[in-house]
Amino acid sequence: MAYSPVTKPCKRPRSIQSEHRSFQAAWEEEYLFVEWPNEKATCLLCKEKVHVLKRYNLERHYKTRHASYSENFPLHSQLRSAKVASLKQTLLSQQKLFLCQMKESEAVTEASFKICYLLAKHKKPFTEAELVKKCFLSAAEILFENYSNKSSILKEIGALQLSDSTCARRIEAMGENIQEQVIKAVRESPFFTIAMDESTDIGDVAQLLVRVRY
Ligand SMILES: [Zn+2]
Repeated sequence: MAYSPVTKPCKRPRSIQSEHRSFQAAWEEEYLFVEWPNEKATCLLCKEKVHVLKRYNLERHYKTRHASYSENFPLHSQLRSAKVASLKQTLLSQQKLFLCQMKESEAVTEASFKICYLLAKHKKPFTEAELVKKCFLSAAEILFENYSNKSSILKEIGALQLSDSTCARRIEAMGENIQEQVIKAVRESPFFTIAMDESTDIGDVAQLLVRVRY
């Protein structure tokens, strides 16, 4: 039998617009989804995020997971609008709290890096990081005695990660970062020079050793 190619009618590629890939305000009430700046569309009921923003995906999520919701909160009813507004408010406050906690933990990590940096600069052993924390806590107990937020200050200091192993990791990370910066600078330079003093050993012999590895 001779081969006969089947010719299919050529489909026009779907445009992004036809798939409704930008968030429509009506979807908030229709499918109980919201979209904040720099965030994926999030379901107000189960907080799940939809990765590809298409009407179909939101509709499918709503119909398979929360279809019964429309029975208690009928579409286009005042009850539903009020519920959506309150769910949005709850989600927003949860996100704000989460962002606040993120910022706090970032600050604690940065502070721990600063302390480890100082210890390394002064050639102190890693084990002294824990002592720094103890000093910090003792001093804060007295310095912030009459402050209304004393307990939060002490809590932040207490959260500083300053064990000897953490200190070693921090210093290694900073060392690697400096090395990366130097390598990057060398790679980007068209040329570089090495300047040095004449070195003399105990026998007063001038020595020079240059090792260049590229
Ligand atoms: Zn959901």
